[in-house]
Amino acid sequence: MFILTLADEPEPLPLTDRPTGDEFDPLPYGLTLAQAVAVRACDVKAGDLVVAEFDDMSGARRSLHIPGPYRAAPSALRDCPCNGCAECDDMDSWTFAEPSRVADTAWRFVCLSPAEDGEPCAIVLAYRPVAVIPAAVVTRVEGDR
Ligand SMILES: [Zn+2]
Ligand SMILES: [Zn+2]
Repeated sequence: MFILTLADEPEPLPLTDRPTGDEFDPLPYGLTLAQAVAVRACDVKAGDLVVAEFDDMSGARRSLHIPGPYRAAPSALRDCPCNGCAECDDMDSWTFAEPSRVADTAWRFVCLSPAEDGEPCAIVLAYRPVAVIPAAVVTRVEGDR
């Protein structure tokens, strides 16, 4: 387990070991969680490898490992090239239920990766801490292959 921190986040962010079940792909290129850093979802950069999110359901932060870690291609929701996926539809029904939410979604959420290959968009609360392996680190090991 690694304890990550964010400058303006009072709670420590415990990053538990990556589960090894079938649904969890191993990290690519031999990367390890020791290389992960915490950032807000809105600060994720293109090419960062997103490995986990931190929720705050119980007051204490908990790491939720992403079954298939992905390279981020972040965009604001309205700028996402997606033409409609399960996640975008969910956002639409959420905003349609309450028109005042339309403005909210623009700054509350970011899309970290547009829908691709049948996988829906990765829509995350903008302020939510996530664990990423920085793009520069991933690119370096990728180049060694
Ligand atoms: Zn979508
Ligand atoms: Zn999207």
